[in-house]
Amino acid sequence: LFIVGVFFGLIIFLFINLYIKRQLSLHSLIVKGVIRKEFIPYYQPIINVKNNTMYGCEVLVRWWFNKKELISPDDFIPYAENSGLIIDITDVLLEKTLTQLSSLNWQKSTAVISINLVPEQLENKQQIRKFVDMIIKSSISPKQIAFEITERMSFTDLDKAAIVIDYLKAQGINVKLDDAGTGYGSFSYIQHLNLQSLKIDKMFVDTIGTYDHKLFVLDSIIAFGKKAGMEMIAEGVETKQQSDYLLQSGVYLQQGFYFSEPLKFEQFRHYFQRDQAK
Ligand code: C2E
Ligand code: CA
Ligand code: CA
Ligand code: CA
Repeated sequence: LFIVGVFFGLIIFLFINLYIKRQLSLHSLIVKGVIRKEFIPYYQPIINVKNNTMYGCEVLVRWWFNKKELISPDDFIPYAENSGLIIDITDVLLEKTLTQLSSLNWQKSTAVISINLVPEQLENKQQIRKFVDMIIKSSISPKQIAFEITERMSFTDLDKAAIVIDYLKAQGINVKLDDAGTGYGSFSYIQHLNLQSLKIDKMFVDTIGTYDHKLFVLDSIIAFGKKAGMEMIAEGVETKQQSDYLLQSGVYLQQGFYFSEPLKFEQFRHYFQRDQAK
């Protein structure tokens, strides 16, 4: 009788579970995830190819859903960005990142951490102030933090963004233009905003070594970045050929599977410690 009871209990439990899962929209799941702090940082090293040491890393969010399923950003970031929930996710992510990197004595290195923000977040000075406060309270120096702003989404108010970027700059925090060339107006952003560096999107890196006649687009972005005196980071570098081409073109800060995938903290700790010992 006991076993039958457990069996039916389990069936009912599974049905209720299924029912609840269907009822809860992605929205409320994310809200719950924020409360439970299920959003965790993965770290992808950015290499200075000139001397083969780590320049820094990019923080890429993963959702450790119900503590058993690892969900990649493509499945929830677009919704989070459009609904504004990205603000709460970034909050959780930044807090974890600062704690984890402090535990590595990150401040004793010169490495830079890059955090992804959407334009909307950058226009919200209150939100940015909160991030800056979190950074100042941590052991990590603001000089070791950078924000990446994607141009896949547009700013609604460039003047507002310019003020916030100047404020960040005054605090020592650099702002990088992410996915440069793929979206809304790199040129106008660079014209209006005090951006220090440019991340060359994988889309352009992909054209290296494919005899793609569009390689000239990559070359033009690089020429532009040089003229503008901006630091350049190439993302999505997968092969030696791509890495060599970029280095020859003067782009020596590189990120991609050729060097390392995004790593969970335990793996990244080893990576960082090995790099520091160089
Ligand atoms: P992204 O900012 O362009 O980041 C680079 C993406 O390319 C990452 O995907 C990374 O894992 C992947 N990647 C890096 N190197 C290589 C490579 O050599 N080959 C290939 N095929 N892929 C490579 P991921 O981690 O899945 O993130 C996807 C996107 O989600 C990011 O693109 C970014 O736009 C967004 N995202 C991730 N974390 C955050 C976050 O905390 N906040 C916001 N707003 N967006 C985020
Ligand atoms: Ca990025
Ligand atoms: Ca990018
Ligand atoms: Ca990209």
